[in-house]
Amino acid sequence: MTTLWNEFYCDLHTHTTCSDGVLKPAELVQAAKNQKLRCVAITDHDTVAGVKEAKQAGEQIGVEVIPGIEISVIFEPGTMHILGYFVDPDSSALQTLIHEVQQARNERNLSVIKQLNLLGMDISFEEVLKEAGGGQMGRPHFAKVLIQKGLVKDRDQAFRQLLGKGAPAYVNKRKITPAQAMGVIKESGGLAVLAHPIQLGIKPNSEEFRNLISQLKQDGLSGIEAYSSCHTQKQAKLFKKIAIEMELLVTGGSDFHGTNYGAELGNMGDGFCITDDVVSRMKEVLKKQTV
Ligand code: AMP
Ligand code: ZN
Ligand code: FE
Ligand code: FE
Repeated sequence: MTTLWNEFYCDLHTHTTCSDGVLKPAELVQAAKNQKLRCVAITDHDTVAGVKEAKQAGEQIGVEVIPGIEISVIFEPGTMHILGYFVDPDSSALQTLIHEVQQARNERNLSVIKQLNLLGMDISFEEVLKEAGGGQMGRPHFAKVLIQKGLVKDRDQAFRQLLGKGAPAYVNKRKITPAQAMGVIKESGGLAVLAHPIQLGIKPNSEEFRNLISQLKQDGLSGIEAYSSCHTQKQAKLFKKIAIEMELLVTGGSDFHGTNYGAELGNMGDGFCITDDVVSRMKEVLKKQTV
């Protein structure tokens, strides 16, 4: 039986084959429709290549598609990803940033191969490129090839022992500061939101965390992705509280990469869902935003 209430639900964090997701943009929008989602944001890593196809599919089948991007930025000790919503994919500022980031990614990918070869692993750039299937090549594709070749047993081992931050074949590719990324998102007509803050590697209830969010807000941040498949219910509650206290939007997304590949579409952990009113609030903030 279909459930009507699903039709108010949205997923604000998804990946397609244009980065490291499994579904093509149009397939992802169809999957959102099948899940009875009203709205889905396409937030591929460092690219907007999937936005047009997704938008077109959304118009045909009646799903609102929010054009988005997830930008990896310079940050220590953990990982910082900035989500950009409602960006104009043709904006020259965004295209320039994407170009720079893609170059750094290509160089990084070549260095990772070098490192893996130095570690005695028989793996080539071409093999990983083929695994990426024409989409943007990333570490999950390295992991897949390493598994196929029997060099590691699973994805977890691939990241823990080789590809993850601090591991011997990890190579930093980040060239953009959080302020730069948020500036470009705004310049391209978008709204900047901090993705899965637990990955920052900073205790959420610390002074350091609040200071960081306060700085990000000064630099253009509009919201926090409190609800994420990366967060426990307790963490989500805390991030929501902090966002409200700091007058930032509370958003959420599954970080869907494909079925049987982490979180399912529309699932942001512990059964929580993002409803229409969140998207309406985002649009209101965007209307008032000045670059
Ligand atoms: P890249 O953008 O090429 O550096 O790859 C980033 C992607 O790798 C993320 O979106 C995750 O899907 C995946 N990833 C990063 N760290 C891990 C990890 N420790 N375990 C599994 N997957 C990871
Ligand atoms: Zn990803
Ligand atoms: Fe991310
Ligand atoms: Fe993501």
